[in-house]
Amino acid sequence: MPAQPPTAQQLRDWDRQIVWHAFTQMAEYEPLLIQRAEGCTLIDLDGRQLLDGVSSLWCNIHGHRHPRLDAAVREQLDQVAHVTLLGMAHPVTVQLAKRLVDIAPAGLRHVFFSDDGATAVEVALKMAFQYWQQRTPGRPEKTCYVSYDLAYHGDTLGSVSVGGVARFHEMFRPLLFDVVRLPAPETYRLPPGVSAAGACGHYLEQLEAVLAREHPRLAAVVIEPLVQAAAGMITHPPGYLRGVRELTRRYDVLLIADEVAVGMGRTGRMFACEHEGVTPDLLCLAKGLTGGYLPLAVTLTTDEIWQAFLGDYAQSRTFFHGHTYGGNPLGAAAALATLDVFEEERTLEQMVPKVERLAAHLRRMADAPHVGQVRQRGLIAGIELVRDRPTCEPYPWEERRGIRVCQHALREGVWLRPLGNVVVIMPPLSIRLGELDRICHAAEAGIRRATEDG
Ligand SMILES: *Cc1c(COP(=O)(O)O)cnc(C)c1O
Repeated sequence: MPAQPPTAQQLRDWDRQIVWHAFTQMAEYEPLLIQRAEGCTLIDLDGRQLLDGVSSLWCNIHGHRHPRLDAAVREQLDQVAHVTLLGMAHPVTVQLAKRLVDIAPAGLRHVFFSDDGATAVEVALKMAFQYWQQRTPGRPEKTCYVSYDLAYHGDTLGSVSVGGVARFHEMFRPLLFDVVRLPAPETYRLPPGVSAAGACGHYLEQLEAVLAREHPRLAAVVIEPLVQAAAGMITHPPGYLRGVRELTRRYDVLLIADEVAVGMGRTGRMFACEHEGVTPDLLCLAKGLTGGYLPLAVTLTTDEIWQAFLGDYAQSRTFFHGHTYGGNPLGAAAALATLDVFEEERTLEQMVPKVERLAAHLRRMADAPHVGQVRQRGLIAGIELVRDRPTCEPYPWEERRGIRVCQHALREGVWLRPLGNVVVIMPPLSIRLGELDRICHAAEAGIRRATEDG
């Protein structure tokens, strides 16, 4: 006899007692079970509708249950669900690689597939390392990386090593490799004596000092272009990325651009690097690559790096790295359909009024008594709550101000997830203006209520 389907209560109990949720204190976890979704709306087990204000953790692009994406995955299922990339390929994966190099910043001509943002970064780190070992002439002493305070590149040990979020990463310090770390090039808490106008130059001088001193041992600079997302949507000064590219070229250090969060249209261009006319040596994509449907990631790179790995089989210049499901055809089909929808629906053009609307909401919120800074790049927004505006004094994180904002928003039917004291608004690019208004109003009301006691 078939088993009875579980009751809603059983599911909640199992969710609380058996499932170990990512980045979640399980002693406090309150189950929220999403049964299905439509467009930008999540629908829970009780039929309650929640607007998805953070794109299911920054990955949904064209909405949930998009007919074009649904059909692409179904059609692929009728062909084959999975083909390995070890020694063979599926046409859809090959087509995706070609599409990506066609639209990527000029010079990125090869695509390595994996399945998550962390693995895409891991691949970039190892590729950069091995490149210096075996290029001609070899530079085997180039083994170290430059990364940034507050950076987030994923949770595998390599990507944690180049990360810099103390609360996530400090515990694992003994397991990590050393990096040369620079302060985050932020625009809110500026170093003493540095003006907003002088910030870009200041941070580039810092980088140049490190490169000038250390370049013989540096393999690569690892950066989240324009916005350090998990850091709290920290925005870099305009011009910084271009300056980093110029300096890394001058000192013969590779540039790894982690576009896992900012790529795929988020900033208003398909790739964040386009805003500053930059081609990195390695570019990582994941999250939005499949429209938020399936785990798939890529590391794009140049012909120069590719060439250093070619040779006779016995020379062992092969890139000895791979993931079982890398380049999975279901994911590749979803990614190709995602790119098709960008064209068919002119997603980037359609975004323009939404970005403006979001900016208008943020300008209003910026005046609230405990809003320290509002930050925006395209459809990425972070609203930093502070105890004291003049001194930028943060709220102690134990006070959970961000979480409280999101709890209020949830009661208004809007799902948000904060980064500490930063309220994040990062809806699917397909969000409608009316939906965006609802998300922003819920966030604003939540901020008011979560900060009314000072
Ligand atoms: C989310 C994120 C990652 C990690 O991606 P996963 O798919 O969660 O492994 C890496 N880099 C950046 C910039 C991210 O935002």
